[in-house]
Amino acid sequence: MATIFSRIVAGEIPSYKIAEDDKYYAFLDINPVAPGHTLVIPKNEVDYIFDLNDEEYLGLQLFAKRVAEAIKQAIPCTRVGVAVMGLEVPHTHIHLIPINKEADMNFFKEKASLTQEEMAEIAAKISQNFGNTQSELY
Ligand code: AMP
Repeated sequence: MATIFSRIVAGEIPSYKIAEDDKYYAFLDINPVAPGHTLVIPKNEVDYIFDLNDEEYLGLQLFAKRVAEAIKQAIPCTRVGVAVMGLEVPHTHIHLIPINKEADMNFFKEKASLTQEEMAEIAAKISQNFGNTQSELY
């Protein structure tokens, strides 16, 4: 059975999309640790990030780098924090979270409560900035 993230990629389940290409997809986490919390996934359904082949792993990281750059431009923050856990959804995903201090990378604190309009606005802003990013290798 397809993972929930594959169903998002297929358009069967809605998402606040930020960017995609033929291999990767980025969208807002529905239960954000902070506004702008984004997930970056390979379209290929592989559960564990370190089971990706080298090319796909590096491609995912380069795609995530561009998304992180776009988040930083769209959301005022000191850095964009990175986390990979994947214990909930068995489809590789990189969490990108705008942070100002270490304590902001806290998955156990109360989640940010945003309206659909606010989520859509944030996604549009990050998405716009993604268009201006590029990577030397990507
Ligand atoms: P984990 O597998 O522990 O890294 O966490 C899975 C993440 O996916 C959580 O932060 C969820 O809020 C997020 N998530 C689950 N379902 C959706 C969805 N339909 N759209 C966006 N994010 C989701």
